[in-house]
Amino acid sequence: MRTIDARSGRAPIVENPMALLSLNNIEVVYDRVFLAVKGVSIEVPEAGLVALLGANGAGKSTILKAISGLLAPERGEVTRGEITFDGADVLALNAPDRVRRGIVHVLEGRRVFGHLTPAENLLAATSMHRDRARVSALMTQMFELFPRLADRANAKAGYLSGGEQQMLAIARALMTQPRLLLLDEPSLGLAPFLVDEIFDIVRKINAETEVAVLLVEQNAAAALEIAHSAYLVENGRIVMNGTAEVLRANPDIDAAYLGGGYRTDYHAIKHYRRRRRWLA
Ligand code: ATP
Repeated sequence: MRTIDARSGRAPIVENPMALLSLNNIEVVYDRVFLAVKGVSIEVPEAGLVALLGANGAGKSTILKAISGLLAPERGEVTRGEITFDGADVLALNAPDRVRRGIVHVLEGRRVFGHLTPAENLLAATSMHRDRARVSALMTQMFELFPRLADRANAKAGYLSGGEQQMLAIARALMTQPRLLLLDEPSLGLAPFLVDEIFDIVRKINAETEVAVLLVEQNAAAALEIAHSAYLVENGRIVMNGTAEVLRANPDIDAAYLGGGYRTDYHAIKHYRRRRRWLA
């Protein structure tokens, strides 16, 4: 079923009542003037693994903050559209309430508590679980998922490597037992073998625990290896979406984001650039 949005007068691109997360035509404004996200519609199905791709400044992190409720501290605001999670409108909820509903956000830049050990970092995320047995079972599960963290259990997190800190940030988010994990650029600044390791773990978490994942990445090649489907963001708009397989095979994506294909086919590139300008 497709309906017309009363405020924008446009039909939403996607509308699936079965989706776990649904963004319908959202707009985000910073400082009341700067329009960073323009009419974005995205769906993440139950247990889905969806990638949000795009260059620097395209609006990917802003979209994640709109979902987790972290725009307010940055003077950002969703000024149009709806965000529903598990069938309920979450826009009116504050960030902690969205975590209670099952939405957890791992911010870009591995923000761990540097003076605490990995175990203490994990414990810090568990205030909502009073049940000690459950907390201890969850911690065991995290150390099984991330054996590197178990090896460094007594080190201060500030002394862990970049990859280990990223793993700890993801593990700490998982301690809240989310239904949706928002991951912002987990590959940033990591060596390729660590990117593979982290992406393998993300795939495993998604497949084994059925936590849905919305993964923001500039490393399109790595993201499309594990994602089921993806959206491409440019200048605050979705310019393309589809299954990972279809996007991998798309010559525009290949030329602009995967570094291959018809880089010398100037006609195709001109056509792509013209379309981008039109959408901007
Ligand atoms: P990156 O990969 O570099 O993180 P991104 O795709 O995540 O990029 P965003 O960080 O969402 O992009 O930024 C989208 C736009 O919004 C950019 O033009 C950016 O300068 C602007 N922006 C982001 N945060 C703020 C803020 N707190 N105040 C004002 N403008 C902002």
